Amino acid sequence: MTKTELIFVPTPAMGHLLSTVEFAKLIVRTNPNISIIFLIYHFVINEPTQINSYIESQSRELDPDQIDFITLPPLSNPPDPALYLTFIHLQNPLIRKAVQDRPSKPAAFVLDLMNASMIDIANELRIPSYIYFTAGANLLHTMLHFQEVADEQGIVDVTLLTDDPESELDLPGFTNPVPNKVLPSVFIDKDSIWPKKIIDHVRRFREAKGILVNSFTELGANTIDVLQRQEHVPTIYPVGPILSLDDSKPSNDEEFIVNWLDGQPKASVVFLCFGSMGFFNAEQVKEIAEGLDRSGYRFIWSLRKPAEVGTVAGLPSEHMIFDEALPDGFIDRTGHKGKIIPWAPQVVVLAHQAIGGFVSHCGWNSILESIWFGVPLATWPMYSEQQLNAFTLVKELGLSVEIKMDYRWDLRKQKGNYLVKAKEVEIGVKKVMNMDEKMKSKVHEMSQKSRKVLQANDGSSHDSLTRFIAEINQDTRLS
Ligand code: UDP
Repeated sequence: MTKTELIFVPTPAMGHLLSTVEFAKLIVRTNPNISIIFLIYHFVINEPTQINSYIESQSRELDPDQIDFITLPPLSNPPDPALYLTFIHLQNPLIRKAVQDRPSKPAAFVLDLMNASMIDIANELRIPSYIYFTAGANLLHTMLHFQEVADEQGIVDVTLLTDDPESELDLPGFTNPVPNKVLPSVFIDKDSIWPKKIIDHVRRFREAKGILVNSFTELGANTIDVLQRQEHVPTIYPVGPILSLDDSKPSNDEEFIVNWLDGQPKASVVFLCFGSMGFFNAEQVKEIAEGLDRSGYRFIWSLRKPAEVGTVAGLPSEHMIFDEALPDGFIDRTGHKGKIIPWAPQVVVLAHQAIGGFVSHCGWNSILESIWFGVPLATWPMYSEQQLNAFTLVKELGLSVEIKMDYRWDLRKQKGNYLVKAKEVEIGVKKVMNMDEKMKSKVHEMSQKSRKVLQANDGSSHDSLTRFIAEINQDTRLS
């Protein structure tokens, strides 16, 4: 039997790629008549070694008749990587060629949210296109809303919607007014070229046949509902939570952490981790260390060294701990109750029963993982849309405690918008480790829902996936 082939174009950055590959695995697991080809463009901006070794390992493990990877050649004359959307647009000829080289016409494109301009190729080849939105429905809703406002009112700078920078906006998908200061950086960074570019980019989402969102109805709350009812928004398929729960044998580093956690009482350890790009400067590291120490709790802290100033993506140094920034004697004083590690096996840590709280930068994957394992979360956003995520968790869903909602880290300048003091860290850690029973039971409920939605009987995300597949099959029959 010939299979229905889908072309997936992820953004080759770990947060996006892992989620997209897991989504592909879910599709072929539930629909064996579908095969998926990943087109991987050459991405100079981020972790190329990590990406390559991940793709190699997946290629070894997966059946190429189900999921296969094609790596595209690098651009002969790449633009400045800071011109990110231009860089992506220039991939189009390579994508077109790769698709035309397929033995038969693919049934659909599934494009990462950053790759919306590839819809041009899909249209040209008369192939339906879908967006796989690796972030939450709160961000999708906000982006589409601002694009609509820009088109209707000609206002691109959303901070001009009010005359007070401290002000709040009413967004249809949120039940509370949204403070300007928790809006995604791309919309409020006045010095950047992004607001205009991002609005042009988001407008393309509307040309897709559907948007698959890595969230689920209960977590998306009002935003999914509003999106589904709005005109000129493609069909929304909440298909999450799609997680990368690597169940392979633990590495040596992971074993060391797990062995240590095995020796700690239940829910006694707080875990601090700030995402793939998370790092702080020495001043902030000292405050965190002092706050942690004073809180008295056991801890695991993923603490990585700053990037070299001026590097394009500002990624922290891999496998290097920023120990020279720690207060004198900190490691000796806390060694018996805490572990400092560079890259953390986050999923393994969150799954362990010794973990009682998670201080998180509120990246979307981290949020889904903490919910999946039912770990109470304290918000400390840093970049991208994480402030909006923190606001959604604290104010909209009442699922998390706040350390900060409006902290913003400038990856290039390596500076926060303010210093979070040791006292605030101490209070935040205590709050998350002693989360009140009502909130705790909400977290527990959401955790159970996050598992149930994927189940074949009645799971809302499973239903969305089934609808998406039915739509593709119908298009294939009609073409
Ligand atoms: N992650 C990890 N160890 C780390 C930092 C991050 O395993 O030290 C994983 C984490 O489990 C999550 C992903 O990397 O799956 C980070 O994605 P998220 O969307 O939370 O944040 P981003 O890195 O994109 O800001």
